[in-house]
Parts: sequence; C-alpha cells; structure tokens
Amino acid sequence: MTQRFTGRTAVITGGGSGIGLATVRRLASEGARVVVADVDDAAGDAAAKEAGGLFVRTDVTSEDDVAHLFEAALDAYGTVDVSFHNAGISPPEDDSILTTGLDAWRRVQEVNLTSVYLCCRAVLPIMQRQGSGAVVNTASFVAVMGAATSQISYTASKGGVLAMTRELGVQFAREGIRVNALCPGPVDTPLLRELFAADPERAQRRLVHVPMGRFARPEEIASAVAFLASDDASFVTASTFLVDGGISGAYVTPL
Ligand code: NAD
Repeated sequence: MTQRFTGRTAVITGGGSGIGLATVRRLASEGARVVVADVDDAAGDAAAKEAGGLFVRTDVTSEDDVAHLFEAALDAYGTVDVSFHNAGISPPEDDSILTTGLDAWRRVQEVNLTSVYLCCRAVLPIMQRQGSGAVVNTASFVAVMGAATSQISYTASKGGVLAMTRELGVQFAREGIRVNALCPGPVDTPLLRELFAADPERAQRRLVHVPMGRFARPEEIASAVAFLASDDASFVTASTFLVDGGISGAYVTPL
C-alpha cells in the first residue's frame, strides 16, 4: 500500500459504517491519522479504535457538534488535511413526491445537505489558514440522472451537494484547497441492503441498469476517495467524480 497520507489528518463523517468505514480503513492504511465522526457511538468508536484514530460523537446536523468535531481534530492532531463529508441517510419514507411528507423531506435535507454545508463552513477556514486541504463531499449518481423509482428528497439533496461542491471548488481553487463531489453508483452497504431487503424487486429493477451487473463494494468507493484526497489528484477540483460501474453512461435495453 502506498503511504500518501503519512503525517496527515483525515476527518470522516459517517465513518462507522459502509463507505465511511471502508474509507477510515483505507486512509489509515495509507498512514493517515483518522478522526471518525458518527452518531452511532459503538460503530464510530470501534472504527476509530481499529484505525488507531480518534472518535468524536457527532450529529452532523448540529452546528455545535460539527464545530466541536473540528476543534477536537485540531486539538488532537494540529491539522485537518482531508475532510470527507459522507454521512447520509436514505429512509423508506422518502419516496415518490406524491407520498413523501414534509417531515421526511426536511430530515433528509438536514442529514444529507445541510450537514455538508455545516462541515464545509467549519473546515474551510482551517484549510485556508493551512494554505492546503482536500474536501470530498458525497453526492450520488442520482445527482446527475433521474430514477423512476423516486426518492425525491434524497435525489434533491444530492443535487444540492453536487452544485455546492462545484461552487466551493471554484471559490477556493487558488488557496491550495480542492473540493470534489464523489458520485457513487449503488454500493453494497447497510443503507442499500435495508432499502432493498424490504423490496427485492426494486433491487432487481436497479441492477438491470448497471453495465457491470453488480453493486460496488465499499472498498471500491474508498479507493476513489483516497485518490481525490491525495496529491495524486492535485489538478482535480470542482469535479463530478462518478464511480458508478458505468450507469451514467448507459443506454439500457433490458431483456
Ligand atoms: P451507511 O448507512 O452504511 O453509513 C452511514 C453512516 O452515517 C452510519 O454510520 C450512520 O450512523 C452515520 N450517520 C447517519 N446520520 C448521521 C448523522 N446525523 N450524524 C452523523 N452520522 C450519521 O451508508 P453508506 O451506504 O455507507 O452511505 C454513505 C454515503 O454515501 C451517504 O451519503 C449516501 O447517501 C452515499 N451513497 C451511498 C450509496 C449506496 O448505494 N450505499 C450510493 C450513492 C451514495
């Protein structure tokens, strides 16, 4: 394994599970000091312990929690070089616009979009002072294409993450700070399993659209995060970084 993050600190929200956990492991294996932020104490703590890092209990929708997260990271390690804003939810009550109520809409916007605003607002001044830093915000392939099996607030939240990230990438490009949007295709994580366990037909309907014919493994998404967060991506900013098994390039003719 290359050691692209030796001496660097990486904050990872939602680091207790799925893509976040795979990224905690990947960045730590490449030498990063990791700070795991999660609302799930047990999972977050376990991830941080495994990686020899720090766990900071954080609800990413809380301005105070987010401020505390980055203070704790700075206190412990002195810099924040990488910030991966990955925590997100996809609850079953977020569905067609015809049935999704305002509470469900707002909750998803808070966790998926407002959280990214809060984390970026907290970390960018730190990176400005350092004169360097890499931010990766998790959007989704649904930010660039529509699904007939709608999750309306989720899709809108990810579109927001993508647009916000592009603008931040442009704004901070001359200050040594890169900001990129990661757009994963469907990944085999607890979030997706929970959604599809209740509705296997829904899973099949989606697999038809993936040229590779399978969902991604979390480690495949983590390696893209590691690339975007590293100096290997030194000329990559404001990008829509698709890691989607070809979905967004496909013209599908199901059998
Ligand atoms: P996951 O459910 O496996 O993990 C999400 C983590 O975020 C959990 O540890 C959870 O406790 C934490 N979390 C949830 N709400 C939080 C909050 N308010 N504050 C702090 N932590 C919170 O999910 P995943 O599949 O790894 O998804 C990670 C990200 O990737 C999400 O933003 C998701 O939308 C995005 N994504 C996932 C897929 C997929 O197919 N799984 C595809 C595209 C994008």
